[in-house]
Amino acid sequence: MAKKQVDVLVLNSNETITLDSPDTETGLGIIDNGGVAINQGKIVLAASTELLERKFRSRTIIDAEDEIILPGFVDPHTHLVFAGARDAEFQLRIEGVSYMDVLRKGGGIIETVNRTRQASAESLFRSGKQRLDTCLEFGSTTVEIKSGYGLRDDEEFKILRTVDRLKKNHRCRIVPTFMGAHAVPPGEASSEYVLSVIDEMLPGIARAGLAEFCDVFCEQGAFDSLESGRILGKALKLGLRLKIHADQFTDSGGAEIANKLHATTADHLVHSPAKQLEKMAETKVVPVVLPSSSLSALTGEKADARSMLTLGLPVALGTDFSPSNWMLGQLTVAALASRELRMTASEIIRGITINAARALGLEKKVGSLHVGKDADLVTLRAPSHKWIGYTYGERIVDNVLIGGEWVVRDGRRIP
Ligand SMILES: [Zn+2]
Repeated sequence: MAKKQVDVLVLNSNETITLDSPDTETGLGIIDNGGVAINQGKIVLAASTELLERKFRSRTIIDAEDEIILPGFVDPHTHLVFAGARDAEFQLRIEGVSYMDVLRKGGGIIETVNRTRQASAESLFRSGKQRLDTCLEFGSTTVEIKSGYGLRDDEEFKILRTVDRLKKNHRCRIVPTFMGAHAVPPGEASSEYVLSVIDEMLPGIARAGLAEFCDVFCEQGAFDSLESGRILGKALKLGLRLKIHADQFTDSGGAEIANKLHATTADHLVHSPAKQLEKMAETKVVPVVLPSSSLSALTGEKADARSMLTLGLPVALGTDFSPSNWMLGQLTVAALASRELRMTASEIIRGITINAARALGLEKKVGSLHVGKDADLVTLRAPSHKWIGYTYGERIVDNVLIGGEWVVRDGRRIP
């Protein structure tokens, strides 16, 4: 029988981790010595190298010998577009000043808001592009980006238009989120600001189609559960899907609102009551756990991911890249999830692929090597999937493909 021509063949891996048709031991659908056939940007087949070589031929063959193949990583939580850095604040935190104390004194998010308002759209685009290049080289093929350093109608638009420009000009898949309710602008009453978010910003942003999700920082010192519920309720009416920064520093009722409104995700969940986590099994809210963010807060507190997993929840993992937690790599998150949260390699792999895709409503498109899905994948210089979370600080990303297009080779972005 004649071999079928395909655009790309990735062959000879030690393990091809499909997250499809789960094998019994890991639930990861691992194919030994396998690979992937790709055509017109889609997965045609993930199978043994032997079978792929029998059925297909291609001009582009990527050799994944001594490597593992995984779906491209999905980062479901970043604040990637902003100006400046907060290295000085981090030194204060090391000396014992809390994150919320810094914010109350006009630092923290507010400091970044001031810097971002002063920045041109062009400079935000340039720094955003560089950061996304880094994401790619770390194996992330889909990245969510929140606004929230404008805190004013025109400035939130400036950020979301920058995200939109990145979406159109960068190879990473980008999911935009409006987070006007990230902090209360200095000198304004929170009640007034909430009204401007609800009556001005949200309708304008929804009309312009600049966001798929709406997120709120539900926390003492930011927005209480009532205000958060009102903002998210309005967003829902306008056709946006919902996310919430829930219970990061205190039990602020965030998880409860997520359950009530059937949000797509509730993120952080460091102080969420067990009852609300249990409810997520019914409401289908995806818990997004951010171990690097918890570490950077230097409080010693972290989300109880083990309980969430025991409840059968699809725990997703993200970086929470922001000026207060400067890290972009999902493999670093993996290393922290194993050490800080005692998540197994299989749980972590699901957390940065299919569950993270679920956190963005993209589980039918990306997140596994299922036939017909977009061909987003990474090859890692590692002998087995158990190296995810085991190794850290090593450059193990070799190749990255997005929609079948080869975008990283030998760990470097292809210009
Ligand atoms: Zn965040």
